[in-house]
Amino acid sequence: AGQGAPILEADRISMHFRGLKALDEVSLSVTAGEIRGIVGPNGSGKTTLFNVISGLYRPTRGRVRFRGRDATGLAPYRLARAGMSRTFQNLRLFGDLTVEENVLVALDRSATWHSWHYLLRPVHVLRRDRDLHRRARESLDRYGLTEFAALPPKSLPYGIQRRVEIARAMAAGPALLLLDEPAAGLNGEEVRQLSEIVRSIRDSGVTVIVIEHNMGLVMSLCERITVLAGGRVIAEGEPAEVATTPAVIEAYLGD
Ligand code: ADP
Repeated sequence: AGQGAPILEADRISMHFRGLKALDEVSLSVTAGEIRGIVGPNGSGKTTLFNVISGLYRPTRGRVRFRGRDATGLAPYRLARAGMSRTFQNLRLFGDLTVEENVLVALDRSATWHSWHYLLRPVHVLRRDRDLHRRARESLDRYGLTEFAALPPKSLPYGIQRRVEIARAMAAGPALLLLDEPAAGLNGEEVRQLSEIVRSIRDSGVTVIVIEHNMGLVMSLCERITVLAGGRVIAEGEPAEVATTPAVIEAYLGD
């Protein structure tokens, strides 16, 4: 582990909300091709770190480098064009669009969406684009969602909705995928399927960073794990290493 070029580097990231130090000098280097886990007690800064990395927040201090370039504070749609993609802890699928249309909108390179709030081209216009349509279909097919293409996500089981989010995030062919608690609300079988999906994504050459509370999943899936507590990195290493670090055990006892 640790060989190869970093695809993402966070250099002493601090994020302050008024008096609160949500992140305090967090540094992190993720190697291209790895599956990195981010764990830590509630409120330790995991989602804030994702929000800084994906451009939703500009950090109070520190720099983010993505694919060798400074990416600090770049707008989310610009990071998406540069090859970064993410999912959210709470699903952000469009309720009045079909599964296929939800994937289609992610392929619109002209969109200046901001965490899926703003869309430039209406979906009926996108539907007429044969190339986009084909790529949306391919992504649905790859994640076993073809049979649900014409249905609204809300009508589907939660595990399928989570998969739609991943299909959408993957449709544009990112180099880095950020997953924020992808196993939340999934049953055992769905977690097993998720694990296979994430491995196949990595095997296709995509780097994955995953925030996850399901420790069994994190331990079996990730090559390296970064542990946050109180907005700081308290440990980093291979799963077995991190699991036996006293500071980590202590942090979790208080959770
Ligand atoms: P985690 O994902 O590890 O549960 P978060 O990153 O969500 O932790 O939160 C870290 C801390 O930052 C918490 O105390 C949270 O209340 C605070 N925080 C996160 N986002 C904001 C925000 N937009 N404004 C103010 N405080 C925030």
